[in-house]
Amino acid sequence: MKLVLIGCPGAGKGTQAKVLSEHFGLAHISTGDLLREQVKSGTPLGLKLKAIMESGGLVSDEIVSELLSMRIAQPDCKNGYILDGYPRNVSQAEGLGAIVGELDKVVLIEVPDKAIIERMSGRRSCPACGAMYHLKNNPPKTEGKCDKCGAELVARADDNEETVKHRLEVFHSQTAPVIDYYDKKGLVLKIDGTKGINAISEELIKILEKL
Ligand code: AMP
Repeated sequence: MKLVLIGCPGAGKGTQAKVLSEHFGLAHISTGDLLREQVKSGTPLGLKLKAIMESGGLVSDEIVSELLSMRIAQPDCKNGYILDGYPRNVSQAEGLGAIVGELDKVVLIEVPDKAIIERMSGRRSCPACGAMYHLKNNPPKTEGKCDKCGAELVARADDNEETVKHRLEVFHSQTAPVIDYYDKKGLVLKIDGTKGINAISEELIKILEKL
C-alpha cells in the first residue's frame, strides 16, 4: 500500500503515520525527518536547510525529491510506505508519480488554523527515537522524558508561534492545491483531525483495511 498523508503543520500526520505504519507494516517516510537528519549532520547543505526550515519556508523540490528517492530505494519500503509531508506543492505531486507510481489513497487530516497554534506550542518530540508527545493531549509518563527510550524531550525550533503562522500560510498557498490535484483523481479521503488520536486511528484503519 502506498499512502500520502496531507494536513497543515500540527494536524497529526506524524502521529497517525506512526500508528498506520505499525498496523499495516509500512515504512513511515517523513521528509521533515529526512531533512532534520541532514541538518544534524552539520554539513554546509545541512546548515542551509536549517535556516530555511527554521523560517518555516519550503526546501527546494530538487533536494527533497532526491532524499525521497534514496529513502524509497531502501529494503523496508518494499511492502509499501506512508509519505508524511510530501508532496508539499503541485510540482512535487506531479513528480511523485515518476518516483512511486500509483498511490492507493491520499489521507487529508483536517484541522482549523485556530486550533493549530495552541497544539504546536505543546508539541514535544524525542530527538533519539522520534516518538511524539503533547504536553496536554498526549503527555509522557515522566515529565520531559521519552516513554520509549528515556531521552530528554525537545520542542522543535520551528514550532514557535511566528514560524507556525508562516508555515500555515505556506500550507494554504502551496500545499492546499495538492488536495485539488488528488481530488480530481478520486484519491482523497478526508478525516476530521479535531477528534482524539485513537478515534482518528481507528477510523483510518477501518477504512484502509477495506482497500
Ligand atoms: P515537517 O516535519 O513535515 O513539518 O517539515 C518541517 C520542515 O521541513 C518544513 O517546514 C519545510 O521547511 C521542510 N520540508 C519538509 N517536507 C518538505 C517538502 N516536501 N518540500 C519542501 N520542504 C519540506
